[in-house]
Amino acid sequence: MTTTFVEKLHPGYGQAFSIDEVLFEHRTEHQELLIFRNASFGRVMALDGIVQTTERDEFIYHEMLTHVPLLAHGAARRVLIIGGGDGGMLREVLKHPGVVSVTQVEIDAAVIEMCKRYLPNHSAGAFDDPRVDIVIADGVEYVTQTQARFDVIISDCTDPVGPGEVLFSSRFYAGCKRCLNPGGIFVAQNGVAFLQLDEVATTARRLGPLFADQTFYSAAVPTYAGGLMTFAWASDDGALRAPDPAILQQRYRDSGIRTRFYNPQVHAGCFALPQYILDALAAI
Ligand code: SAM
Repeated sequence: MTTTFVEKLHPGYGQAFSIDEVLFEHRTEHQELLIFRNASFGRVMALDGIVQTTERDEFIYHEMLTHVPLLAHGAARRVLIIGGGDGGMLREVLKHPGVVSVTQVEIDAAVIEMCKRYLPNHSAGAFDDPRVDIVIADGVEYVTQTQARFDVIISDCTDPVGPGEVLFSSRFYAGCKRCLNPGGIFVAQNGVAFLQLDEVATTARRLGPLFADQTFYSAAVPTYAGGLMTFAWASDDGALRAPDPAILQQRYRDSGIRTRFYNPQVHAGCFALPQYILDALAAI
């Protein structure tokens, strides 16, 4: 008998998936981990009842949270990923030939191990790349203590519930600020604004005072249900947000990266925000 997974993120509303085959289900040290197969979205991973990633649409999220900051920066060599246990973000970062080192700080080793085994197409061998250093730790502790410095920091975390809550704190953002090299860029998943608008405002209040230029960009990711997925952006150089179109096109071409969602035109347009988000930010 086919059972149904109903997401528990929003009160009174949730997307549903048929569970056509349970591949892995276990309470790890930190969270409830479920990986199942669904006829429409392929393999799906959920943590604490919240969809984290699916084989069918993960490329949108992972391309937008890596290629926008990395191609905007133009010369990133050292990258930090917080979270990202499924390995999709790592896979995309490693496609950039200029990146010489990626540190990934993930709190739950079981997520990495089970995603390697049951979601192999996400990491596609990325965890074995010699440029990668995997650190099993709480991201907020790492960024407040490490002596390492980075050109781009990507927070690929869960929603601000459970272990992910600290990754939306002022302490975490201050820690990321201290770890960024001059000219560095911080980006983070920041929820679906139509349903989590308070998270956008909270991030702007906490992250904005730390950087000269803080805003959001967005993309529609089907299984982050409810509309536009927002990504927090922060740097100390406002020009990084709007690179010259010809330069961005050249960087994209020189990278040799083949994408399915990202392109320089999408990059240029993704910082345009709907009025209701602008109004919420203006009210802060
Ligand atoms: N794409 C998803 C989203 O937007 O919701 C996130 C995917 S990824 C699976 C989220 C990762 O963050 C998980 O592997 C989880 O274990 C990790 N995580 C949660 N809290 C963390 C923390 N405090 N430090 C480091 N990693 C954390």
